[in-house]
Amino acid sequence: MASINDNYLKLPGSYLFAEIGRRVAAFKEAHPEADIIRLGIGDVTQPLPAACIEAMHKAVDELANADTFRGYGPEQGYSFLTDAIIEHNYTQRGIHIDSDEIFVSDGSKSDCGNIQEIFGLNNKVAITDPVYPVYLDTNVMAGRTGTLKADGHFEGVTYLPCDASNNFAPALPKERVDMIYLCCPNNPTGTTLSRTELKKWVDYARENQSVILFDAAYAAYITEDDVPRSIYEIEGAKDVAIEFRSFSKTAGFTGTRCGYTIIPKTVKGRAADGTLVEFNKLWNRRHTTKFNGTAYIVQRGAAAIYTPDGQQQVKELVGYYMENARIIREGLETAGITAYGGINAPYIWLKTPNDMPSWDFFDKLLTEVNIVGTPGAGFGPCGEGYFRLTAFGNRENTLRAVERIKTKFRI
Ligand code: PLP
Repeated sequence: MASINDNYLKLPGSYLFAEIGRRVAAFKEAHPEADIIRLGIGDVTQPLPAACIEAMHKAVDELANADTFRGYGPEQGYSFLTDAIIEHNYTQRGIHIDSDEIFVSDGSKSDCGNIQEIFGLNNKVAITDPVYPVYLDTNVMAGRTGTLKADGHFEGVTYLPCDASNNFAPALPKERVDMIYLCCPNNPTGTTLSRTELKKWVDYARENQSVILFDAAYAAYITEDDVPRSIYEIEGAKDVAIEFRSFSKTAGFTGTRCGYTIIPKTVKGRAADGTLVEFNKLWNRRHTTKFNGTAYIVQRGAAAIYTPDGQQQVKELVGYYMENARIIREGLETAGITAYGGINAPYIWLKTPNDMPSWDFFDKLLTEVNIVGTPGAGFGPCGEGYFRLTAFGNRENTLRAVERIKTKFRI
C-alpha cells in the first residue's frame, strides 16, 4: 500500500473558518430571522476596476481571432505585465529589479505556500504569532517542524509574539533562524513595521545569513510615509529578502487570481557541498516545472491597473475599503473598545472587552448584535483576547454593523 506524507497528520483540521461556519449555521437555524452581517472573512466585495474589465474584454476578443490568439505564455509572466509592475512598484521608488527577478503567479497564497520547497528541510523557521496560517501549515506539511504542542505551538518553530505589549513589532529571535516570515501590513493584526523596525530584521538576516520571506499582499493599503511599501526600500534587503505581492486586495482579484514574487539574484543559500546558489534559479526551475503561467486575460486585466485610469480606479477602490476601516476603528473607539490596525491595512484588530476569550466574544457579537468576525485565537495563541474585523464589507453593512456595536457596548 502507498504510504502517506505523515506530516499532514500533524496539522489540526482547518478549524478556524469551519468552526465559524458551524456556529453561524447553528445560530441561523435557531434564529432564521436574524440579519447577520459578516465582517469576518478577508474577501473583497466591490467589483473589479473598469480599466481591468475593459482590458479583459479586449483580451477575450484577441483570443477569439487566430491572428491574435495566445496559447501557453511565459511561465514567469508576460513582459507587458512584468515591465509595468517593475516600473510602477519598484523603479519609481528607486529600487532596481531585473526582468528575470519577477515571477507572475495565480496569487500570493500559492507563492507564500510553495516558496519553502526551495529551502532545505533542516532550515529553522521563524513566524510571528498571530500569523497568516499558510506560512506555518506549509512548513508543517514539508516536515520542517515537530508536532503540535498543548500550548498551540509546533515543536521546532521559532514563534515571534506580536501583541499590544510590543506594539505588534516582533522582537528578534534569541536563537539563529534561517527563514523568517514577515507580513507587512499584517494580516490579521492590521499593523505594520516602520522603516526602523524593518531595518532591524534586514540587519539580522544579513548578520545571520537568513532569508526574509516578506509578504506585502496589502502594500496598496499603506497610507503612512514611514511604512515601507517594499522591503527593498531598506538598504541591503536585496541580498536577503524575497517579496510577495498580490492583485487580490489591491484591485479585487481574489477570484480572478494574480500575484507575483520578486526574488533578487543576490539572495543566496548554501548547497550541501558548500557552494552558494541563487534562490532565483531554483524558483525559476520550480515555477517552470510546476506552473504553466497565469491566464493571458487575467494578466491583461492586472496590467490595466498601471494605466492612468486604472491607477485612479484602484486608488478609489482602496480608498473605499479604508474609509470602512476608519468607520470601524472610530466606531469601536466610541464604544470604548481598543482597536489596532486599520490605518495602513483593511483589518482592525480589537482587544476584547474585559479580556474576554476570543471565541466568547465571537459568540457575544453573533448572538447579541448578529455580527460575524474572526476570533484572534484562530491565528495563533498570542491572538487570544483579540478579534479581527475586516473593512472589505460594503459601506452600508459596515455602517450598520458599527451602529450595532456602538449601541451594544457604549459605556
Ligand atoms: N498573504 C496574506 C497575508 C493574505 O492575507 C492573503 C489573502 O488573504 C494572501 C497572501 C493570499 O492572497 P492571494 O489572493 O493573492 O492568493
